[in-house]
Amino acid sequence: MTDTAGRRYIDFLAGCSSLNYGHNDPDMKAALIDHIAGDGIAHGLDMHTEAKGAFIETFEANILKPRDMDHKLMFVGPTGANAVEAAMKIARKATGRTNVIAFTNGFHGVTQGALAATGNSYHRGGAGTTLNNVTRMPYDGYMGAEFDTCDLLAAMLKDASSGMDAPAAILLETVQGEGGLNAASPEWIARVAQLARDHGALLIIDDIQAGCGRTGSFFSFDEMGITPDIVTLAKSVSGFGLPMGLVLVRPEHDVMGPAEHNGTFRGNTHAFVTARVAIQKFWSDGRLQEDVSRRAAMVEDGLKTIAAMIPGAYLKGRGMMRGVDVGSGDLAGNICAHAFCEGLIVETSGPNDEVVKILAPLTISDATLGKGLNILIDAARSVTSNFKVAAE
Ligand code: PLP
Repeated sequence: MTDTAGRRYIDFLAGCSSLNYGHNDPDMKAALIDHIAGDGIAHGLDMHTEAKGAFIETFEANILKPRDMDHKLMFVGPTGANAVEAAMKIARKATGRTNVIAFTNGFHGVTQGALAATGNSYHRGGAGTTLNNVTRMPYDGYMGAEFDTCDLLAAMLKDASSGMDAPAAILLETVQGEGGLNAASPEWIARVAQLARDHGALLIIDDIQAGCGRTGSFFSFDEMGITPDIVTLAKSVSGFGLPMGLVLVRPEHDVMGPAEHNGTFRGNTHAFVTARVAIQKFWSDGRLQEDVSRRAAMVEDGLKTIAAMIPGAYLKGRGMMRGVDVGSGDLAGNICAHAFCEGLIVETSGPNDEVVKILAPLTISDATLGKGLNILIDAARSVTSNFKVAAE
């Protein structure tokens, strides 16, 4: 990226995972320009358009079919929060229940329903009203490595006097993006999925940040042996940074009437054009997945170097959604600020902003990735030596 003064930056934020395929992918750009130049429809409400049909066909053939997923595609308003709202509404309507179980440090958006499921007190404080009908449970690892938080969830669901109302849904991120890159184990996720089934609740995986290849495979739950009842996608689903929200729902739970979850911008035609190219280009074979696995190893090595400089620091996340918990928001913020001065855009995450979080584009070249990692390592070295001097 280049700023107004002409300074160049490497982008390790990638639109907070909205630009998994980088900025201005040439093939998406060309398809979009062709569509616009050819007087293609720009806005079609939720009606059928050629662009929408082509995206649906491509998504079903390349993403759903190979995974034996029979989910319907529901296009919602153009944000992640709207996808979560729709998912919660579907679960409530399908089950006739109101309660949704969500987890500590979960982030699902800031509209009222999604915010009720979001843990962060700063965002919750902006609601200006009570946030209801969500039961908060501890995420995997929240009580330390020795305590399986699924045991608590199982016990409370089983106990008619636990005070927990029967849930319409259990809603979770497999890796908590905003909440500090907490990555749940596949075993914990499979157990939660089983508990949802046993107790008549729908399993909603919020893959808005962790999906679209961010953790390595298209869905963050691939190869975990689970089939969520509902999946929410947004951010990188359009591939080009254009707004698009998508809910995948099993046919038996597809209970919303036509336009019942309304929205003028359901299905953004320009986003359909780029989203189709993104799926065709990156998910019709395994090349991107191989690249991501190699680049994820580079990121891990870089972060290990940083962790080694800071007592108590440790790595978090999975795939290309990785970070290092440096124990203090001040330290993490200083490292990111220093890196920015040296030409790297990188952010923090976590309840106290204590995690330096790398969300580089999945398509970044190995050379640029290495260069960015070196800037971050140098920033950490310089900031930690200043911290030491200050401490002495
Ligand atoms: N869900 C998750 C997991 C997210 O990370 C986010 C945004 O960061 C959202 C939902 C909300 O998406 P949006 O900001 O597009 O409303």
